[in-house]
Amino acid sequence: MANILIIGAGGVGSVVAHKCAQVAETFSQITLASRTLSRCEAIADSVRQRTGRTLDTARVDADNVPELCQLIRAVKPDMVLNIALPYQDLHIMDACLECGVHYLDTANYEPLDTAKFEYKWQWAYQERFQQAGLMALLGSGFDPGVTNVFAAWVMKHQLDEVEVLDIIDCNAGDHGQPFATNFNPEINIREVTARGRYWERGEWVETDPLSWSMKYDFPAGIGAKKCFLMYHEELESLVRNLKGIRRARFWMTFSENYLNHLKVLGNVGMTRIDPVRFNGQDIVPIQFLKALLPDPASLGPLTRGKTCIGNVMRGVKDGVKKAVYIYNVCDHEECYKEVGSQAISYTTGVPAMIGAKMMVEGKWMKPGVWNMEQMDPDPFMADLNAYGLPWQCVDVE
Ligand code: NDP
Repeated sequence: MANILIIGAGGVGSVVAHKCAQVAETFSQITLASRTLSRCEAIADSVRQRTGRTLDTARVDADNVPELCQLIRAVKPDMVLNIALPYQDLHIMDACLECGVHYLDTANYEPLDTAKFEYKWQWAYQERFQQAGLMALLGSGFDPGVTNVFAAWVMKHQLDEVEVLDIIDCNAGDHGQPFATNFNPEINIREVTARGRYWERGEWVETDPLSWSMKYDFPAGIGAKKCFLMYHEELESLVRNLKGIRRARFWMTFSENYLNHLKVLGNVGMTRIDPVRFNGQDIVPIQFLKALLPDPASLGPLTRGKTCIGNVMRGVKDGVKKAVYIYNVCDHEECYKEVGSQAISYTTGVPAMIGAKMMVEGKWMKPGVWNMEQMDPDPFMADLNAYGLPWQCVDVE
């Protein structure tokens, strides 16, 4: 029976709160805190209506470590689930160390003024967490998160060696808006407009943003879609942890409409992350753009269709070449019916709940800072089936 503190009341934080509330036998006490208290209260109302459970709510600035520590000392949680933005990761890790509580997040640290994400800042906490007897679980969303666990499960049960890993993220949903992002617009656009990068024979190869594409034929009636090569954070840990891997790439589907909007916004400077002086004040164009775009949490009732995210892994089993495709298909409307959110928030929030469940139930409790593929995949994979993200693994050519 665990007492947890969730920080971040956005699209994903809402799903985490609903899913943790559904698992009362594990999460006996839940506090939801964020920068804007009214958002926490609105989520707590929805949780009460849907599950009958009451959440505590609080306001906190997660960039302020003393403020975080004050809240953690008042709530006395067993662990903190960081569902705010990547900019807050190190502050929340610092607060967890100071107060002696475990930590989990869904996205790796990114400095506000450089569109660059890397694990090095968080991996640097390894010794401090180990010495404190605390665990930090990094990237417990879908990608990163489930894709890492899929890779670990395939290595445990399907392949002796992996040569090639392709992670393919397809959102075949339609929200009917001219342009919107499925999760935090600032983080999403920074990620999509960055240079592509993949792993080939022991080194990183860079590509121009969205310059490489392929067609992939997705299951569950989704059909063939164009996918673009991008750099994604789980590649960094997977090439370290999947021994012998020769090539690792990440692909994501985008519609022509999305790409056209992004191109125009980029061309006119609206995706810039550096401040621009305007009418006597500094404005960061991408932050202003975020304020104009639909809140991803508002897309829930509008989005129809499915997501399909998974790994194609090629390697060798018992001396014979073998390739598998392991994936989940999730339906936007079904997610909305269950927790009032679209599938992108759902597919991120459910693994965050399961990661926390693994930790507080002791199945994954190990002091230090860990990526998901470093844990035993089996109990997590069983819970994906039990809590809304069923998966399939099939042989492919
Ligand atoms: P949102 O922008 O919808 O929500 C972020 C929340 O964090 C908001 O409620 C915001 O508060 C709060 N917040 C921001 N800064 C602070 C702060 N300083 N102190 C306290 N609260 C703060 O984002 P999403 O829900 O879409 O995404 C949440 C996280 O999930 C992100 O890190 C994102 O990268 C990650 N993600 C991971 C995925 C995966 O598969 N691994 C996929 C999708 C997302 P306010 O409302 O006041 O602005």
